[in-house]
Amino acid sequence: MDKKLFLRRGREDSIKRFHPWIFSGAVKNADSDVNEGDIVTVYSSEGEFLCKGHYESGSIAVRILSFVDEEIDEQFFKHRISEAYRMRKKYILPVFAGEEGSVYRLVHGEGDSLSGLVVDIYGDLAVLQAHSTGMGKSCSLIAKALTEVCESVKYVYNKSLSTMPKGKYAVEDGWLSEKRELPLTVSEYGNLFEINPEDGQKTGFFIDQRENRRLLQRYSEGASVLNLFSYTGAFSVYALKGGAAKVESVDSSLKAIAQANRNVEINFGDRASHRGTVADIFDYLKEAEDSYDLIVLDPPAFAKHRNAVANALQAYRRLNARAMEKINPAGGMLFTFSCSQAVDRLQFQQAVFSAAAMTGRQASILHCLNQPADHPVSIYHPEGNYLKGLAVYVK
Ligand code: SAH
Repeated sequence: MDKKLFLRRGREDSIKRFHPWIFSGAVKNADSDVNEGDIVTVYSSEGEFLCKGHYESGSIAVRILSFVDEEIDEQFFKHRISEAYRMRKKYILPVFAGEEGSVYRLVHGEGDSLSGLVVDIYGDLAVLQAHSTGMGKSCSLIAKALTEVCESVKYVYNKSLSTMPKGKYAVEDGWLSEKRELPLTVSEYGNLFEINPEDGQKTGFFIDQRENRRLLQRYSEGASVLNLFSYTGAFSVYALKGGAAKVESVDSSLKAIAQANRNVEINFGDRASHRGTVADIFDYLKEAEDSYDLIVLDPPAFAKHRNAVANALQAYRRLNARAMEKINPAGGMLFTFSCSQAVDRLQFQQAVFSAAAMTGRQASILHCLNQPADHPVSIYHPEGNYLKGLAVYVK
């Protein structure tokens, strides 16, 4: 039997508007034997059925999975994953990477009505990340559903250790299928990348920047390019493909830079004018004297929580100002990003505006950048629009 949870009087409005989270302040009481990650059935204070979801102690008390009274079981996960797959096969895969077997996000949390779950596909490998105890406890069911639903998927790797809520139910990273040989090489718009989820950050690659990398390629002809927070050099590979005169990748992680060098090599052999540098970006920008035609600024999320927003905005202002100072005075491009969910688009744009004002440079927005269609945002959950970027002409 599912456990029951009751809301305080009048707190059901957001659920009736399909917002997928219930905050702890809205909860009146729950069955005394409710544990972390259990499925709960949620009722209004009047006893009206509202939804079902995963229970969690913490500020988000329930991550809603369904607004109808249905079993949350193997069949449920299979159905939700098929829906996500069907939408991508129909509308998304044909538009970008073409055929199946390419790189894409199959499940994007709330955007696919599976709050707390991310699944990325790399050819025959699915990498899943649970962000809630409930999803962590459901990993085996999800892995089974993935291999049943997606024809291309033969292997499933669980990469949830770093994303699960801390100090609760522990999920180790590891194989949920037979082990696959790694790294594997995938192709994104004809560019090759080695993927190693056992080793890398996120699920092994930042799929979310695919369309922005493609745009950058078109601005790269003849350019000197500085790729800051480069990770495995994905922007650098696109810049070189677009005819950049020289490209520099900078990241504080030695492993990331080694992988960036390797990704350049598998695409261009030793013909490419590329340099990988291991450095802290804040130090690097203080000392770098060159000016560049194109700079990519794609830092990690500075604000993981609402109370960190002010500091994050300060860091975005400072970084963007330092980067703008390095843009060729005759005119160049800055591709600048924020992947902090807690920082909204307007706040980010204001930070870039302050950076421009601090440096006294002229700056015009040529493109507003986003996460791609395989990272959908539920209209009821605008917080899901975490990746924001601007392509700015600076002179
Ligand atoms: N642009 C990349 C993703 C960037 S992820 C892509 O398209 O794939 C953020 C990266 O920033 C990580 O690789 C991390 O190692 C690096 N990083 C975090 N803090 C840093 C710092 N202070 N200096 C340099 N690199 C940093």
